[in-house]
Amino acid sequence: MAERPYIVGNWKMNGTRAMLSEARAIDRAAQRYMKVEVALAPPYTLIHAVHREAEQIGIGAQDCHPGAEGAHTGDIAASMLADAGAKFVILGHSERRQDHGETNKLINAKIESALEAGLRVILCCGETLETRDAGDAEDFVLRQLKSALPAFGDPAERLTIAYEPIWAIGTGRTATAQDIEAMHRAIRALLDNTYGEDVSAQVRILYGGSVKPENAREILSTPEVGGALVGGASLSAESFLGIVVGAS
Ligand code: PEP
Repeated sequence: MAERPYIVGNWKMNGTRAMLSEARAIDRAAQRYMKVEVALAPPYTLIHAVHREAEQIGIGAQDCHPGAEGAHTGDIAASMLADAGAKFVILGHSERRQDHGETNKLINAKIESALEAGLRVILCCGETLETRDAGDAEDFVLRQLKSALPAFGDPAERLTIAYEPIWAIGTGRTATAQDIEAMHRAIRALLDNTYGEDVSAQVRILYGGSVKPENAREILSTPEVGGALVGGASLSAESFLGIVVGAS
């Protein structure tokens, strides 16, 4: 188990103010598991409200625009997220890549902008099933990261990587412990080479893809797994806290 596992819930496009009670329950319970770092990324509309209620958990967003401000109807800048109480932002999620055609270059620009605004960043990567079956998963993921990672000299220690095989997201399938470990080791080697071992050691690598209370302990005890990015199971305090317990 990682020194201080990082368990992050991604509510995606779910949640109205009625969900604030779930966030409150997660926050109160997280105070009993101080050895686990717990965080939630609600939709934009709830960031400020969750931030105002939360005492223990970190609040973040699911995306930002690469620009600082300006005429970009419907978009949100990183500085606006920070102003609303966000401490981190998830970038490069496969649903953003698929639904909005986000490229690694765009994701890199968003990362630079988020770091500039003082946010921490969770950078997502992961391959499709076709890529894995073709034996190209590692090359593909490392290519994604090489072109999206912030430059050497940027505050890369504020970075977290989330390895999320696309075929495991929301499908009930999870990668095997061996596959997760192999991919996380390859990512670690890339971080060591890019930033040096001291900075790399501060970057946690999370696993994401159908993590739930029943499989959390096994996944989180896999070497090099520093925590989990959780979609569906983060929508109820009970199941999300089951994962936090698995991490403790
Ligand atoms: C995700 O989309 O980041 C995710 C891991 O979703 P789920 O836990 O629902 O597979």
